[in-house]
Formats: sequence, C-alpha cells, structure tokens
Amino acid sequence: MEKRVPFFYDITLRDGNQSLKKPWNTNEKEIIFNHLVELGIQGVEVGFAAASEMDFEACSRLAQIAPDNVVISALARCVENDIIKAADSIKAAEKQRVHTFIAMSPFNMEYVLNKSPQEVRKQAIEGVTFARKIMGKKGEVQFSVEHFGDCHENIDFVIDTLKEVVKAGANVINLPNTVERVRPKKFVDLVEKVYNALPKDIIIAVHNHNDLGMATATTVESYFAGAIQLECALNGLGERAGNTNLYEVAIALHNSGVNVPLNLDKIYETALIVSDMSNIKIYEKAALIGPEALAHRSGIHQDGAIKTKDMQKGAYRPIHPSLIGRKDDEKLGFTSQSGKTAIFEIITDAGYPITISEAQRIAPVAKAEAEKIGELSTRNVIDIYFNNVLNVKGAFKLCSLDKTETENALLHFKYNDKEYNVEVYGNGPVDACIKAIQKAGFDCEFLNYEQKALNMGSDASAMTIMHFKAPNGQTIISRGCDESTVMANLKAIFNGLNIMENMK
Ligand SMILES: [Zn+2]
Repeated sequence: MEKRVPFFYDITLRDGNQSLKKPWNTNEKEIIFNHLVELGIQGVEVGFAAASEMDFEACSRLAQIAPDNVVISALARCVENDIIKAADSIKAAEKQRVHTFIAMSPFNMEYVLNKSPQEVRKQAIEGVTFARKIMGKKGEVQFSVEHFGDCHENIDFVIDTLKEVVKAGANVINLPNTVERVRPKKFVDLVEKVYNALPKDIIIAVHNHNDLGMATATTVESYFAGAIQLECALNGLGERAGNTNLYEVAIALHNSGVNVPLNLDKIYETALIVSDMSNIKIYEKAALIGPEALAHRSGIHQDGAIKTKDMQKGAYRPIHPSLIGRKDDEKLGFTSQSGKTAIFEIITDAGYPITISEAQRIAPVAKAEAEKIGELSTRNVIDIYFNNVLNVKGAFKLCSLDKTETENALLHFKYNDKEYNVEVYGNGPVDACIKAIQKAGFDCEFLNYEQKALNMGSDASAMTIMHFKAPNGQTIISRGCDESTVMANLKAIFNGLNIMENMK
C-alpha cells in the first residue's frame, strides 16, 4: 500500500463554476460545497474573490460554514489588490489559503503577459512575499506556475524561480497542465524534476486540464511522481474540455492500492446532483457514472458479467458499482450481438420464469428482431417471450376438450386448417389430450410434467411445465399458463407441439 495519503483539492466552485453558461450563485455554491464536505474533500478553492462582488460574497459565506478540517482557498492573481481580497474573503475559515499564480511558459510570457522572464520571476516572488505577510504563519500560500505543461524549454528557469518562491513563503507549489497538448509522460517528467528540486516539506500539486482526454492519467501518474495535492473537479467540470475528473482519479488510485480518504460511496449521488445543477448531462459512456457505464451488449461480455455478478471484481467492469454508491446493477441490453444470457436475465428480472435452454431457443428470434430495429427494450423481449414461450404460434391450435356422454373426452383441435375431433378414454385431461393427438396420427411423447402456482398477473395463477421428447431426440420444455389448471395443462401440450413443429 502506498503510504502517502493524497490530498484532494476541489476546483469545481472556481474553475468549474467559471466555465458554466450560468455560473452558480452563492446559494447554489453552498449546495455543491456541502456535497464536497460529504465526499470528504480536504481542500476547496471557493472562488476568485477579486472577480466580482458575487464571488467575494460566495467565498466569504463558504469560509463561514466550512468545517475546521477543510482547507479553504481563494484565488488571486499575483498582484497585491487580488491577494488582499482573497485573504479577506476567507478569513472566517479555520484553515485558510491564498492561491496566487502567474504564467511562466515562454510562449505566454512573451505573447500574453508581454513580460521578460526576469519580470515574471520578480512578480512571482513579490506576490508570494506579500501573500505570506498577509497570511502570517498560520495561513497557507499556494503558488501556481500557470502553463507549467509548456515549460519544457525553460524548466531550469522555472525551478530556480520556484526555489525563490518557496523561500518567499509558498508552502504549496502547484504545477498546472493549463492546456493539455502532449502525452502524460512528458508532463509527469517535469513534475518529477520539480519534486526532486524542492524541499520535501513543500506540497507539490497538479492541476490538469482535459483537452486531449488524458487529464486523469496525467494526474494519477503525477501522484506517483511526487505530487500529493490533486486538483480535480466534480463531473470534470472546467474550461473547454474540463478539469480532471475527481471520481476517475479517486477510483484509479483506490484500484492501485492507494488509501483514498474520500467517501467513495457518495460519488454517484454527487455526480447526478452536479449534472442537474450545472445543466450538463452526464455523457452516457462517461467512465464510472455514465448511464451506459454498466451496460453489456455482446453475448460474450454478458456471459462474463452474469457469471461474476455478485463478486467484487467483475469480468467486464473496473469496480463493483456499490463502491461509488450506484444501486443499479450491470445492465444487459439485447442487440443483434447479444445472446441467451441477456434473454435469461431480462426475463428473470422482469419476474417471469424461464430456463437457459428456453432462452437459447428464443434468442435467434430476438436477434432477428434486433437486426431490424436495433436494441430491444425490455418490453420487446417480454413480447418475444410471450409469443415464443407462453403462447407459441404454429400449426397446432387447441379448440376445446370436453367430456362426452360416455365419460370419454373429445378433443377438438386444428392442424393448419384441418379440423380434428377425436374421442378417447383418458385418465384425466392431460392423458386424454395426449392420447387424442396420438390417435389423430401425430407424435406426442412427453417425459414429465409439473404444475406450479404462480403470481404473474391476475389472469394467470397456474403454470404447467412439460418436457417433451422432440423427433430429433432433443428434450424441449414447454409451458402453459392460465387461471384454470386444466387449461394450463392443455396450453403446455399445444405450446410443446408447436415448438417441436417449428423446429422441423
Ligand atoms: Zn484550470
């Protein structure tokens, strides 16, 4: 087990919020903040206090309601006025942090800041010195190298500056991949260099954007390269393609044997609330939280999923859904790629009796239907079940079975359009019916039969299950379902006849 406990620093309320089409007001921020506390997040960046009055007010409110063990941080550019406002906005919190930043990539210094590296270094040191003065010994000062991911060419300059910044009073050094441009390894190598160059009591943080969809990988690997503070957002909210998704990082570390100090079982509920409040739908294929993240459609995957359903480790899933508080089970959809397992599970889940051999028999019917219309709904699959198990269409049609005056039984049935009226002596309706069919010249040999009471709806209280020996030697199961036990028997016989007839 990895000994260092990661420090999760949430940026949903700052980076995430600033990217929303309709940023949250203070009340909405408070709702999100309370969910962060429930998740067990250790640090929260509550806003950019100098950005607006509303931001300042939100920072102040959240600082007031923050639990004593949560670090409350406000963002400030590396200028005195911003730093004063940030520090002022969070003064009610027990654990306060001012977070200041400046870009240091050659590209940004030249084209955005229009400053020389020496001017940037001076501003960074002065800003941190000022922040430390304001925060005193008790508060924390975080410094970020904006665009750190673009600092390959001038990494020595960055490291030298960071050494000065640390001397000036920063105790957290954040290394953002402000725009994700290249592969994670290149970024992680830089993180490692900084980690090795700075005193070990300095907290190294990473803040990775997801422009190429690799922010989770970059963050997770940065942790193993020395970063302890991981800056993430709920649902991956953030500018452009978003920030690092908190849930993915937490679970990836958990699965890697790291002690993740979060209430992981709050993840799913939080994700749904954040989606609702941000008006941003969860992508159906989103890792862990997507509606489709537990769906299996290929027959092979469905088989593996069912065989490992109740195990912590699943054949085709990274975690047990309950780990993140998901109540829904792995979902099986029926498409042309699916098989008997899906039929079996869907029908069983819907509360109807079926065996795996029956599921195998009707799977081709369902596949043919799915080829025409795409994925079948549960209703579609149930319809197929009714038409192929409980009410099998075919050449045989039962009309009636009546007692005659001579105490014999008279079976009236049709085979295609030809009508048969056969009178036999039988020991009960099943025996009479079978004998009459045989007397009419049809093969009808059953191996056994059982009757069950069941509760499948108001009009069906008895089910007969029969095993027939089909002409090809195969054993087939047929069912009959009716409120009358006699009719349930007769339906089972005729369903069996049609199943065997349809096999020809
Ligand atoms: Zn950011």
